[in-house]
Amino acid sequence: MQRVAICLTRMISQVRYAARVISHPRSRWRLWEWGRRPVTWALIAEPLVLAWAAVESVDAFGAGIDAVAWVRFAFLCVAAVVYVIGTNVAEERRRGRAGDKTHVDHTSLVFFAAAVVLPVPLAIVLIALVRFHRWWIARKPVHKFVHSSVAICCSALGVHGVAGLTPLREWVGGVQVGLGAPVALGLVGAVAAYYAAQTVMVGAARGLASSVWDQAPAEREDGWRGRLWVHMVGDRSDNAEIVVTLLIAAMITWWALAWLPVLLFVIPVGAYLTIRGQRLEEKQQEIDDLARTAEIDTRTGLLMVAAFEKATAKVLSRAVRGGEPTSLLIIDIDHFKKVNDTFGHTTGDEVLAAIGELLRDVSRPSDLACRWGGEEMVLLLPDTDLVTALAVAERIRAAVEAMTIPITKAAGGDVWYMGLADHNGVRKPEEIRTVSIGVASIPVHGDHFGEAFERADQALYAAKAGGRNRVRAAEAVRLTETDQVVT
Ligand code: GH3
Ligand code: MG
Ligand code: MG
Repeated sequence: MQRVAICLTRMISQVRYAARVISHPRSRWRLWEWGRRPVTWALIAEPLVLAWAAVESVDAFGAGIDAVAWVRFAFLCVAAVVYVIGTNVAEERRRGRAGDKTHVDHTSLVFFAAAVVLPVPLAIVLIALVRFHRWWIARKPVHKFVHSSVAICCSALGVHGVAGLTPLREWVGGVQVGLGAPVALGLVGAVAAYYAAQTVMVGAARGLASSVWDQAPAEREDGWRGRLWVHMVGDRSDNAEIVVTLLIAAMITWWALAWLPVLLFVIPVGAYLTIRGQRLEEKQQEIDDLARTAEIDTRTGLLMVAAFEKATAKVLSRAVRGGEPTSLLIIDIDHFKKVNDTFGHTTGDEVLAAIGELLRDVSRPSDLACRWGGEEMVLLLPDTDLVTALAVAERIRAAVEAMTIPITKAAGGDVWYMGLADHNGVRKPEEIRTVSIGVASIPVHGDHFGEAFERADQALYAAKAGGRNRVRAAEAVRLTETDQVVT
């Protein structure tokens, strides 16, 4: 009686969990939010694959599914269940960290073996079961999950097609054709078909969903094609991992046809690959985190000088090749010592952080913003001429002047908004922080960063001498038509 009660409670909690999973915003069928292009692709490709699967299934049922197929199915089910449950935690951690990056799923070990040794309908049932379990755990948006599952079915159908074209089908069916080169070739062909179908199905959806297509061609950042390609098909190491996994699957399948229990090898092999993959990713993450903290100044969130100089060298060599102008702004906070003296260093730090944040907000993704030292910041604007750079500088100057900064008082109490005008619209003079900006441009003010920097620095001094809270352009070494307008 007690057991029945426990069973019932468990069942009820499972049903509750199911309801939560299904109603969770992440798992809703949000196909229409995916964007017009990937939805069109999904609506064309998915029905085609499903129709192909239906035709093959009718064929398979017509020919009859024998006992051998059912035994193989049972073996693969056991292997799949033990494997996916055993690697749940590791897979989830990987998935969490991998983010939107191509996620290499080692369950293809099971799917590939199933595609080779099982008739199409049984292979599809196995794929559906494993994928359902994954969805249950990962709770990704359903439409994306359905698409990648259909992609796996497409791969399995591709493998089935290759098997029919080579002696692989007879060999799997127990017809003695030997273990020679034609069969090996068939297995390699099957690996290629599996890989190609998956890459095309998922890659096309990812590529079409990219926001790059919403931008005008001129607005796209340099190297967008390369980045889009990696986003679609993954980088070299992702692909190497998929191919190695599939080749291991092919080996296991080969041996399993001589002795069926070898199919269970997918359990330790899959677990090893998944756990090793997770460890490698953890290590990479640590290295990336370390690199990032060494590159970014924690107070302002801007680049540190060494990282800035490295990135600048790249930008400038590209600019020289393309004959594009590059501009640079040196920004120095006015009377910052006074801020520190009047309100304390902590307030000074908060002002610095707020101005750093403003610089990050106003800069484009291709701009480089750096904390040069103390309260001096540098902004490098690729593909920007002097006229535009002066406009950017003026925008920054005006934004700093108008800024209100929430300050935490050292003694505690309410947050105090530095720079907030009182009800008469008056700001206290000691609360007005401004910046002076010197602007220079390559090639107008020199061919190298060093030359342009020196000129911008002189312009900054001129801005300070001229009364602060202003923008000054460096004196031009050589004038172009557009630059004559401003100097
Ligand atoms: P000017 O208008 O001529 O630029 O006047 P200034 O007072 O800003 O002069 P200067 O640029 O020479 O002063 C820099 C001051 O910035 C000195 C230092 O106390 C302060 N400072 C530099 N780094 C930090 C920091 O990380 N936090 C705080 N709170 N203050 C800093
Ligand atoms: Mg200063
Ligand atoms: Mg200074």
